[in-house]
Amino acid sequence: MTLSPADAPLTWNVAGLLGDDPGTSREFDVSDVSIPRDDGLELARPISGHVRFQRTNRGIIADAKLHTGLRSECSRCLRPMEVPVDVAIEEEFLPALDLATGQPLPADAEPDVARLTDHHEIDLEPIVRDELVLAEPIAPLHSPDCAGLCIECGLPLDEGTHDHPTDDIDPRLEALRAFKPDDSTD
Ligand SMILES: [Zn+2]
Ligand SMILES: [Zn+2]
Repeated sequence: MTLSPADAPLTWNVAGLLGDDPGTSREFDVSDVSIPRDDGLELARPISGHVRFQRTNRGIIADAKLHTGLRSECSRCLRPMEVPVDVAIEEEFLPALDLATGQPLPADAEPDVARLTDHHEIDLEPIVRDELVLAEPIAPLHSPDCAGLCIECGLPLDEGTHDHPTDDIDPRLEALRAFKPDDSTD
């Protein structure tokens, strides 16, 4: 088994492990892995964790425990925030090719089962990507008791004072008054 290629950090070549007896396993640490950004998925930190591959009678079980964070925004006060995500994967991959003959194995018998690539690789990136999309909360809160935004001045209620008089003061002036320069220079 070789290390992951630099351009596919969540891919491992398991040709060697396929030649071993069932029950044999290999383990790898995952650190500092970024995946190309698409689907609106933006990582706030690299992916780290641990993967374990175990030879079974039919293929290889991948057992991965990974951690990262997604860049998001508080749904009440709109502050940028990070949503921590733990991804646990346990999936059996069956060979795409017969190791002895190099011939493709029939995939139509079990269309839903995960397959190794033609180069005997386990590619976890699509699964990790799916898990991250599923893990993204619909309405994240930067703090469980986030007070949200002031309906008078539009600034976060947990910053500054919001004892706005109810008479007809220009709301733009109110916004300026609630803005305290000391808060923004730290
Ligand atoms: Zn908030
Ligand atoms: Zn206010």
